[in-house]
Amino acid sequence: MTSQRTRQRMIERLREQGIRDEAVLAAMAEIPRHIFVDEALASRAYEDHALPLGYSQFISSPYTVARMCEIARAGGALGKVLEIGTGCGYQAAILARLAREVYSVERIAPLLERARVRLLRELKLRNVRMKHGDGNLGLAEVAPFDAIVLAAAATQVPQTLLDQLDLGGRMVLPKGTQKQQLCLIERSARGFTETVLEQVKFVPLQPGTIQ
Ligand code: SAH
Repeated sequence: MTSQRTRQRMIERLREQGIRDEAVLAAMAEIPRHIFVDEALASRAYEDHALPLGYSQFISSPYTVARMCEIARAGGALGKVLEIGTGCGYQAAILARLAREVYSVERIAPLLERARVRLLRELKLRNVRMKHGDGNLGLAEVAPFDAIVLAAAATQVPQTLLDQLDLGGRMVLPKGTQKQQLCLIERSARGFTETVLEQVKFVPLQPGTIQ
């Protein structure tokens, strides 16, 4: 149920769904997804839907993770990436295969602690740093970033995060409340341009932290 073959079927499905970036597909073929969910759900980890993580949060579906990484990469290598909403850490692990350095911020401390064990102790990923904090504030001490990926939906894009995007940088985020759209914001010398992509469903970006 959690074998290499199951993972390979997930990759084939992602191709059928339109994911074209081979680096993203390779990363998702390599990182086991079942270790990020509760043991009782492990056999469903490779199906194409979101699964509960506890604390009313969800691991994004494989398609959503693949699509966000593909958009963030735009076919090129990534340097420094910031993820807001570590959750179980799955997307951070995929990003770690695609970027030189990954920084991930999570507001719920126990979720972050579990993600830390998986990413650092189990998968031994050396290029991921995790921080307990309010992602609305970004990570000023490490900015600017080549890409910022939000795993929770904002009604308005926090200006602080836009400021932490490098020139030529890309932000991928779900925007809205009930009806949400996946958006790409690109920063150039002339300013920010926004492209609305497809409809999505994410938990809301919330203020503050939980111990
Ligand atoms: N990328 C994750 C998806 C997690 S779901 C994965 O692969 O599993 C979204 C996460 O965003 C939740 O864990 C939620 O607690 C977190 N979140 C919501 N608002 C936040 C904020 N302001 N700062 C940091 N994390 C936030």
